[in-house]
Amino acid sequence: MTDRLVIYLIKPSKYDDEGYVVRFWKGVLPSNTLSVLHGLTQDVIDRRVFGNLKIDVVTFDETAEKLPIRKIVRWSQQPHTKLLVCLVGVQTNQFPRALDLAKQFRARAIDVMIGGFHTSGTISMLGMEEPDIQELFRESITVVSGEVEGKWDEILSDCLKGRLKPVYHYAQDLQNLVDIHEAPLPLTSPKTMKHFAKPAFGTADTSRGCPFACSFCTIINVQGRKMRERSPERIAELLRRNYHAHGTSFYFFTDDNFARKKLWRETFEAIIGLREEGIKISFMMQVDLARKPKDFVKLAGQAGCTQVFIGMESVNPQNLKAEGKGQNHVEEYQKIIKEWHDAGIVVHTGYIIGLPFDTREQVPQDIRYLMDVIQPDQSSFFMLTPLPGSHDHREMKKRGEWMDPDFNKRDSFHATV
Ligand code: SF4
Repeated sequence: MTDRLVIYLIKPSKYDDEGYVVRFWKGVLPSNTLSVLHGLTQDVIDRRVFGNLKIDVVTFDETAEKLPIRKIVRWSQQPHTKLLVCLVGVQTNQFPRALDLAKQFRARAIDVMIGGFHTSGTISMLGMEEPDIQELFRESITVVSGEVEGKWDEILSDCLKGRLKPVYHYAQDLQNLVDIHEAPLPLTSPKTMKHFAKPAFGTADTSRGCPFACSFCTIINVQGRKMRERSPERIAELLRRNYHAHGTSFYFFTDDNFARKKLWRETFEAIIGLREEGIKISFMMQVDLARKPKDFVKLAGQAGCTQVFIGMESVNPQNLKAEGKGQNHVEEYQKIIKEWHDAGIVVHTGYIIGLPFDTREQVPQDIRYLMDVIQPDQSSFFMLTPLPGSHDHREMKKRGEWMDPDFNKRDSFHATV
């Protein structure tokens, strides 16, 4: 009889070019997925879904913590103890590492699940016949596609009965994904945060999805194009709780497009309202370059936004058109950036190299134009990378175009096409 369930939530790292696991002395950006899954599990405990069953949750972010694999295996051998390893938030470049970890645990007959953008995007755009998904099935590793809010009880119940399914597919209908308005709040793990450089720096998702249709993007094929949002009251509750429990006062909001939230005004006002309780929050967020609702930028500044990350991608209109990024208008870039600057907010732009109209001659000219005319405060440059789950990747596959088969390299810092 099982009287204890131990759930290991692990955010895997990736392999470097020499095959070593990448692990930093201190982490920088805590994994929001890890906190979301931790919060969902705590909610199961609080609601006593499994009665008197003792449930322990242990989180690991492998980018900053060494995984005690032998210790985890020993736990699985404790009498009356059921152990479940969940490899969470796995991106394509982390998939080889996640698969290796999963195989090690499966070799000891430990139940293992794997979820995140790689499995979700692959199943959503290509189906379950893909070789990497088939390999997971062969290894009896449970595959999760999509988000598990509202489903976690069912999955854990299956695990306790020893009947985990080969796949839990929750992203079939992207128009009707789970409502997160009142979803359980993410939970920060002090144990994991000890391995981060700034324990007062947190991540949180206030919404999911994006209405646009950029062809290189995987987000829209996993989280959908219909915005789903946590309620402003719940967001304030999360920030308040983290402030009092962990001193968290600076956030990276992981929403892929904060500017398309319907409840953006109410969310900013809720954050401003926390000041009356002595809780001063500042944050970074990601937004698009399309026209913002009136007052958006001003209110963002008042709420404590200090930096925006904007997916500019290119200053060449032909590239933007080719990638379905019609919402970006190069002639408006300067004005939009000035508006953020006028509100005292730093602008960091993301730029992609390798788009269809990029050439050796054109790229240096474009970057010069970016620096001299557009003038963001900071820019990060990424190589165009076909990610499973994106329209571009699916079309390249259909056309039989070569892509580097090594998923470790799909991190936008390696040439893969
Ligand atoms: S604006 Fe960003 S999140 Fe939205 S579809 Fe384009 S790349 Fe994806």
